[in-house]
Amino acid sequence: METTIITNVALVNPTLPPEVIEGGWLAFSGERIQALGPGTPPAERARQATTRVDGRGGILLLGLVNAHTHAAMSLFRGLADDLPLKEWLEQHIFPAEARVVTEEFVYWGSLLACAEMILSGTTTMADGYFHEDSALEAARRSGMRGVLAQGVVDFPAPGCPDPSFNVENAIVFLNRCWGEEPLRAGIFCHSAYTCSPETIQKAKEACRVHDALFFIHAAETEVELQETSSRYGFRPLEHLARLDILDEKTVLVHGVWLSDEEMDLVASSGAGLVICTESNMKLASGIAPLPELLGRGIRLGLGTDGPASNNDLDLFGEMDLTAKLHKVASMDPTAVDAPSVLHMATRGGARLLGFEDVGLLEPGFQADLILIGTRRPHMQPLYHPVSQLVYAARGADVESVWVAGRQLVRDGQLLSLDMQEVMARATELAKGI
Ligand SMILES: [Zn+2]
Repeated sequence: METTIITNVALVNPTLPPEVIEGGWLAFSGERIQALGPGTPPAERARQATTRVDGRGGILLLGLVNAHTHAAMSLFRGLADDLPLKEWLEQHIFPAEARVVTEEFVYWGSLLACAEMILSGTTTMADGYFHEDSALEAARRSGMRGVLAQGVVDFPAPGCPDPSFNVENAIVFLNRCWGEEPLRAGIFCHSAYTCSPETIQKAKEACRVHDALFFIHAAETEVELQETSSRYGFRPLEHLARLDILDEKTVLVHGVWLSDEEMDLVASSGAGLVICTESNMKLASGIAPLPELLGRGIRLGLGTDGPASNNDLDLFGEMDLTAKLHKVASMDPTAVDAPSVLHMATRGGARLLGFEDVGLLEPGFQADLILIGTRRPHMQPLYHPVSQLVYAARGADVESVWVAGRQLVRDGQLLSLDMQEVMARATELAKGI
């Protein structure tokens, strides 16, 4: 079997607290990590390797996990900015989606996003959008790992003009796309303000039958809090709990406007929660109570949200801003530290998405690896690799990427996709928007 050995690297295992080997090596065989250690590898192991990579003093980390995005919306990047969520969605995004989102749009938009994510060190994504078959096809071609979730709303949507069939449409997707590791299928109900209680419950039931993940935006804005409270008499998370949809296979997204009782509800249900700091900042939705969520032991991941509300898919930037925002919001520099954010963006996100053998640098785990160069001024000197990754590194520092042992990036060049073709098609499609 093909065995790759990477030498001359700092190894960062994003446990809490993190484990760091300042100078070491790692070997993987097939799709799994085989061994790792400090210094130079034993002569016998080095001799057996079929591929040898000199890490040149870089940092070897697990691939990052973008636990919430809408990949195809990369084609809407920069289309409408500096607006509140409600106006941005209802006057710009929803109408544009109704006008131009086709299977072709989703395929090429998702490919553009996959290229951006892989090149900036993200190896796993959770996507939620329409025409999700096309997103899945793009993810497969790119080589990424992920959960692709068919979008559901209670109004005519791309690929589902009659909303009375929205959940059936998602079930067809689940049936067709089941069991294509490293890609998995799920359902994404947009929110409790675009989906009725019946729609949400039907979609969650379908996920239970298929043992699939269920995603939903929840408690994102103050307007959502007010509307849900007046329509149903309960706050957003109380409403979802009463629909009996909170469990370990439900992934909530945002969680900005949460009461203490709602945080307790999330914690006791085992549901996961994805924090999307930059999107919440850009749409001025608010600041998720991350220190309190961490304190309750809630399963947390980090997401960029769609490229139209961020406007990039660089998780290094997301980690940096997440840690810093909570320091200034609480006027406490210890509020959220670098190891916690790194854990959310790796092991935390992987577990949230059900990839139990992803996200740790340990023998037997999936070889989803990224090599980050440290030979540029902003990466020197290197006292604390974890701090450097969160507070100084950028997606552009990623030199090599492997997913399940397959190399997708070498020396900053994407191997799995024809970038010129992807860029040309994206540019062409943007002309029609
Ligand atoms: Zn979203």
